[in-house]
Amino acid sequence: MIAPEYALRDGNRIPALGLGTYGLDGQPGIDAILSAIDVGYRLLDTAYNYENEHIVGEALRRTAVDRSDLIVTTKLPGRHHGYDETLRSFDESRHRLGVEWVDLYLIHWPNPSVDRYVDSWRAMISLREKGLVRSIGVSNFTEAMLTRLGEETGLLPVVNQVELHPYFPQAELRAFHEANGIRTESWSPLGRKSELLSEPLLAELAQAKGVTVPQLVLRWHVALGAIPIPKSSQPERRAQNLDVFGFDLAPEEVEAISALSRGRIWGADPNTHEEQ
Ligand code: NAP
Repeated sequence: MIAPEYALRDGNRIPALGLGTYGLDGQPGIDAILSAIDVGYRLLDTAYNYENEHIVGEALRRTAVDRSDLIVTTKLPGRHHGYDETLRSFDESRHRLGVEWVDLYLIHWPNPSVDRYVDSWRAMISLREKGLVRSIGVSNFTEAMLTRLGEETGLLPVVNQVELHPYFPQAELRAFHEANGIRTESWSPLGRKSELLSEPLLAELAQAKGVTVPQLVLRWHVALGAIPIPKSSQPERRAQNLDVFGFDLAPEEVEAISALSRGRIWGADPNTHEEQ
């Protein structure tokens, strides 16, 4: 199963679902990423701060799938904000990954109290111009922060990766993305270790469709046009999580799932969270 793709505003393509790699480490991590690629995942999500870029890189070297068919995402950590710092940090990420280019490079968190994300963004624009990064985006940015990037540099990100799941559907931010050609990516798409997957409404809908609750939730993301990046250390779950393109949700089912909305699970508010 290979996920369908979207075109990004910069002309590059991105799969409609990817693999989160936070916590995939060591030999089991390499094996997990390799088997995920085998089963059809083409979008891989890591970050400098996950300390596993070398694990993702090892999987890239070992897989039989062509490098140009894989979309590798990594992220700039908070402590490396600033123009020169960003260039140096990127270089480190690229070497840890062992790749010639990174497909999607994101500012991990805005850290507004440091107020250097615009400098980082300018550095990312230069990395893209040099061909070292194919697409540039951000993570955990608010509408006001995105607007500021656009106003000060003339270029909006093509992706904003944010906390998004049925408990936190982010309707307003998604509408802003859609109006501005920014593709939404969903982190913690299954509501990581919350009670989301035990919600009776989800069990009822999943049973009626003959799918599992995680499949239902991931299909909800796809219906919203957001790209979920579920992480699992278990091969059966990874295969199941990718297999969500063979059924549909009616608009009223999408709405019913969105009505589970109650707020962030982790309390990580981009206006105040400080990522190291
Ligand atoms: P998640 O993908 O919502 O949930 C992962 C949890 O769900 C794991 O405990 C996993 O357990 C379990 N799981 C996965 N598939 C399952 C299935 N089919 N059935 C039952 N349980 C299942 O949460 P996440 O890892 O927080 O988020 C995903 C990715 O988003 C991360 O890996 C990372 O790449 C990215 N992320 C980005 C940010 C950011 O600030 N940009 C923040 C957080 C996460 P097992 O592993 O035991 O299967």
